[in-house]
Amino acid sequence: MPHRPSGSSTRCVHAGRDRRKGGLALSLSPASVYAFDSLADVDRPLERSDEVDVYARYRHPTGRAVEEHLACLAGAEDALLFSSGMAALTETVLASCSAGDHLLASSETYGGTTELLRRVVAAGGVEVEFVPFGELGMLGKLVRPSTRLVFVESPSNPLLHLVDFESLFASLGDTRPPVALDATLATPLGQDAVQAGFDLILHSATKYLGGHDDLVAGAVLGRRERLAPLRARRRITGTNCGPHTAWLLGRGMSTLALRWERQCANALELARRLEAHPSVPRVHYPGLSSHPNHALALRQFPDFGAILAFEAGPDLDAARRVHDALRLVVRAPSLGGVESQVLHPATASHRALSAEERERIGIPDRLLRLSVGIEDVEDLWADLEQALGSTPG
Ligand code: PLP
Repeated sequence: MPHRPSGSSTRCVHAGRDRRKGGLALSLSPASVYAFDSLADVDRPLERSDEVDVYARYRHPTGRAVEEHLACLAGAEDALLFSSGMAALTETVLASCSAGDHLLASSETYGGTTELLRRVVAAGGVEVEFVPFGELGMLGKLVRPSTRLVFVESPSNPLLHLVDFESLFASLGDTRPPVALDATLATPLGQDAVQAGFDLILHSATKYLGGHDDLVAGAVLGRRERLAPLRARRRITGTNCGPHTAWLLGRGMSTLALRWERQCANALELARRLEAHPSVPRVHYPGLSSHPNHALALRQFPDFGAILAFEAGPDLDAARRVHDALRLVVRAPSLGGVESQVLHPATASHRALSAEERERIGIPDRLLRLSVGIEDVEDLWADLEQALGSTPG
């Protein structure tokens, strides 16, 4: 593994990169295919297409450089890029489970993940068992001989609930199935998922890693041998991310630490002010002592992240008014970009769930999710305050 600088900002700029020779910028190699010298030369590269550049669906130099950058940044042995966060999730699950197998998944995940597990994975014959967040510390009891994967998301979207990593692994014991974590909302900087013991760590790179809302990509990190089946599947299913996207991602990752620091600081300040606002019944942010996982966050996720959810009044109408009255914060269905974005989970990220399911996991119709950007916090607060002022108390 290349030298890993200890500071997270230094790692974002330099991890896995050697700038002492050549240009300082990451090289973009847009080729989709590489030439052979002769017929005798065809066999060897095709046999070793995981190690040699033959065809960009298998691998390409730009993607490889970004994978090394990301692995080094996160302290993982290796990383694989995918065409989206969902492609990374799909390949992770399908490389581990087939018909007749059992999969344990936390019930609080991104709505698209729930949809994938139900409509693709369970429909394909895998028994998917959703476990409520509060019961994840006792997961060991639910493991069966046929359990091929445990999948959790932490922090969860949109309530920022945290899985207690220590109790999760203690409950699973030594002879456990592989455990995968969707760590998108924490980035590799916010929590040390490698040290915690996760076998496969997933990110929607569309979010904080890219950071500028100009690309769609995903990543899975882990030990090389653990990633081998995913690499083999990616080659066949064609879910690799292309060179131009990888290049943009590599550029975005260089500034991750700076963006993350500002976004988390802004989010904490806004969460505190929202909590004190008379029109806001409840704020969900792990940096607030009112959050159920505040104590855990202090040791496992001390940056607290840059997503917060708040109840924008008593009902859907109030939420709609606040949502529609925002002038600076953009109404958009994503997160992690430099610009602050608001979303109504019940109609956007979690629309695939029924109203009862949303209520059960704590997503009422009056809830808004804010992905906090890098703007000046006073401008963001002025916008939120005027939008909240549009509701009748
Ligand atoms: N995981 C989480 C936590 C997400 O929020 C999202 C998308 O919002 C995804 C995965 C899916 O990522 P993508 O949109 O890059 O496919």
